[in-house]
Amino acid sequence: AEDLLEETVVEGEEKTSVKVKLSIVFVTAEAAPYSKTGGLGDVCGSLPIALAERGHRVMVIAPRYIHGTAADKIYAGAFDADCRIKVNCFGGEQEVAFFHQYRDGVDWVFVDHPSYHRPGNPYGDSFGAFGDNQFRFTLLCHAACEAPLVLPLGGYTYGEKCLFLVNDWHAAKYRPYGVYKDARSILVIHNLSHQGVEPAVTYDNLGIPPQWYGALEWVFPEWARAHELDKGEAVNILKGAIVTADRILTVSQGYSWEITTVEGGYGLHELLTSRKFVLNGIINGINTSEWDPSNDAHIAAPYSIDDLSGKAQCKAALQKELGLPLKPDCPLIGFIGRLDYQKGIDIIQAAIPELMGDDVQFVMLGTGDSKYESWMRATEVTYKDKFRGWVGFSVPISHRITAGCDILLMPSRFEPCGLNQLYAMRYGTIPVVHSTGGLRDTVETYNPFAVGTDDSGTGTGSLYFLGSSSSISQYIKNEKIKFALGLIQALRNALKTYREYKGSWLGLMKRGMQQDFTWDSAAAHYEQVFEWALTDPP
Ligand code: ADP
Repeated sequence: AEDLLEETVVEGEEKTSVKVKLSIVFVTAEAAPYSKTGGLGDVCGSLPIALAERGHRVMVIAPRYIHGTAADKIYAGAFDADCRIKVNCFGGEQEVAFFHQYRDGVDWVFVDHPSYHRPGNPYGDSFGAFGDNQFRFTLLCHAACEAPLVLPLGGYTYGEKCLFLVNDWHAAKYRPYGVYKDARSILVIHNLSHQGVEPAVTYDNLGIPPQWYGALEWVFPEWARAHELDKGEAVNILKGAIVTADRILTVSQGYSWEITTVEGGYGLHELLTSRKFVLNGIINGINTSEWDPSNDAHIAAPYSIDDLSGKAQCKAALQKELGLPLKPDCPLIGFIGRLDYQKGIDIIQAAIPELMGDDVQFVMLGTGDSKYESWMRATEVTYKDKFRGWVGFSVPISHRITAGCDILLMPSRFEPCGLNQLYAMRYGTIPVVHSTGGLRDTVETYNPFAVGTDDSGTGTGSLYFLGSSSSISQYIKNEKIKFALGLIQALRNALKTYREYKGSWLGLMKRGMQQDFTWDSAAAHYEQVFEWALTDPP
């Protein structure tokens, strides 16, 4: 490990905190802009660049998802590295190729194999998850173990002395026998609810020595049982990584604590509690050049904290694009995200009839569970002057909603970090969020009575608890209704401030826009964990 700590002097005053130059390898199922379904893609697209800027040698390894569409152009800068290797995976020999692009100081490496060439997103298509995901991501891991040894990037390989950043179960890496003795692995959990659980008979396919079976051994807890057959023994890839990783990180401090509790641990809370001495959380940063209201090609007009007039233009343009009445003073509420249980879509559903009684406009953008997609389409018809449900995944529209709305709603049941509330604050859009995980860590609730820098109070948004602000909530057993009550109450408070206390609203907007969520400060925290892993092995 000592060898890994190569002392370097890094030019530039601001970067003097970098004492060691490391070889860092990110293994991930997504990396923006090449592939993205959520926050994982954003993180693996930005954090590597921030670490490279701080003087490290950084490689990102992800699959090369191409399927003959215009989106494939995104890989145009990545060329065949002319290196084919054969790896043993699922009892057979598989040939993979590597594609490589050096961009923004980072080696972007894409593993090429026919199983990544199909329509849909990285994990599935409209019929559901791909049946061979365990194979596809096992292959990624095998290839990721080889790449640092075989690819002479910029003239020389990364070699064995590297630090692997393993992201979620898809990347839970396997160390070939006798190799990587000096390497360290850091597991980053972006979402504990996806663990890579498959029947135990698939263990042999993974290429892991038999003595490690216990690390992955798993009996389906009740919540994870999709059908009767799931009662038996299984293998859980994320569990194996939790047992073996040198350090474990989550994407916020709050979430790193939540996953050690019964409610947030998804069956792994005891194991995670036993590993809490190597467990920590670092809040994600955001890509401040992609998300910059003063320079954003996707939005109708630029604006900044000094001149907010462009935001009103963005709102009008969004109302026009959505076919909503052009009402500058009508509060426009937005939601962006995956349509699933985690994001609390059913809670929005429960609250909508009540909310639509008010003079508000509401826009939702997302894809996911088809029952929610149908509901969004139907709700547009029911509330045609007030509600728009945009079924789709569109980065430009997500920017326009973030800029054009007054309020961004995030009723997530749990949220490891959450990025949309960070984008919202940067765009002067007030986040109204359930108090959980990264939302609780990043949004400070509005306090009109506290003394801040002016007389507009303190805070950057609104945090609400499970039905806490409703006097009748204690009598209600149904969890969803409790959540919906909390949400309605929080939104009503926000709407009152928006309509009646314009100065306070402006204060909220400005404080949000001043927050520092840059990747550089997150990267500095990652460096501390790297040093901890290298100098103080478990
Ligand atoms: P998660 O990773 O759980 O999906 P995050 O808030 O961490 O949630 O990150 C979600 C990312 O995906 C954000 O960048 C968000 O803007 C983006 N996103 C989610 N749904 C959509 C969509 N339908 N269209 C465009 N971007 C989306």
